[in-house]
Amino acid sequence: GRAWHLVRRPNGWPVPEDFALVETPVTEPAPGRVLVRNLYLSVDPYMRGRMNDVKSYVPPFQLDEPMTGGAVGEVIASADERFAVGDHVLHDLGWREYADLKADYATKVSAELAPLSTYLGVLGMPGLTAYAGLFEVASFKEGDTVFVSGAAGAVGSQVGQMAKLRGAKRVVGSAGSADKIKLLTEEYGFDAAFNYKDDAPVVEQLRETAPEGIDVYFDNVGGEHLEAAISSLTVHGRATLCGAISGYNETEPVPGPRNMMAIIGKRLRLQGILVADHADLQPKFVEEVSAWIRSGELKYHETTVEGIDHNVDAFLGMLRGENTGKMIVSLV
Ligand code: NDP
Repeated sequence: GRAWHLVRRPNGWPVPEDFALVETPVTEPAPGRVLVRNLYLSVDPYMRGRMNDVKSYVPPFQLDEPMTGGAVGEVIASADERFAVGDHVLHDLGWREYADLKADYATKVSAELAPLSTYLGVLGMPGLTAYAGLFEVASFKEGDTVFVSGAAGAVGSQVGQMAKLRGAKRVVGSAGSADKIKLLTEEYGFDAAFNYKDDAPVVEQLRETAPEGIDVYFDNVGGEHLEAAISSLTVHGRATLCGAISGYNETEPVPGPRNMMAIIGKRLRLQGILVADHADLQPKFVEEVSAWIRSGELKYHETTVEGIDHNVDAFLGMLRGENTGKMIVSLV
């Protein structure tokens, strides 16, 4: 089977030469392990951080080793009594066709309950990030006005819809294309949305779309968006700092917001989130969100790129905004 290796650490934007697709033999699993044929692979923004050789909340990718990441696959050989051939599992040995993994690290998922790719998106890590980041970290409450950046992406599209479903007064989103803006307001029920790539500064577009200010900001982007949100947050406003993708490919540290004094004056609360801290919410999240999906109240999109050969293209495309909703690599 083939697996992607990182062969050189990117400087700024990754380039195809930083990666290599390497053939490795597929062998019978040892006791306590399962052999999985991967069906869907995830590419996520946090993987960019793992390409740098710096200490962070996830260790860096090792050079010339198979890369890792979320994946869903089918068990094709099992040496552990908990798994049978044909079971579908979620695990962390993505970026490859076949995964030989310790059975302890595989989670069974059901193809009857939901399409398998959704365990990487709306019912998976990004969905839980939206749920925990909005309802727990930002202490969202009915009647709040919410602003979310990266609003047409895997996390952001769920944040906006979840806020509406739980009684937000107004939901505003920003994203990087006219089509995405249309999707947010016409399909996902956002009250307003703007394209941050338009000429007008984010701070102005936010003021126009949320004239009475925002109570909650869900930050996927950082930079200019965070500064604008600080200026629009109301007294005692809350922000969940989830990601700062606008800076992930910068080679120098990104300057912070210039209006930090407003945090004091308005007694704002800006709090980071790591989804891994919120595993306790998983059962409640799956119950509530799967019901919303079944009833059609919560919508989701996936952008699918076909084939292991295009795993890196999918990753780079996601960083450039070519995805609407979760970016998925399909091997089926
Ligand atoms: P998305 O599906 O949102 O894909 C990334 C999107 O980022 C692109 O589609 C693009 O959309 C947007 N983007 C790229 N560059 C910029 C830029 N310079 N300015 C503004 N937007 C940009 O990814 P996810 O939903 O998986 O992740 C969203 C954020 O959440 C990321 O920052 C990620 O790191 C973070 N995250 C954090 C977690 C945590 O535990 N803290 C867990 C999961 C995700 P567009 O066309 O709109 O530009």
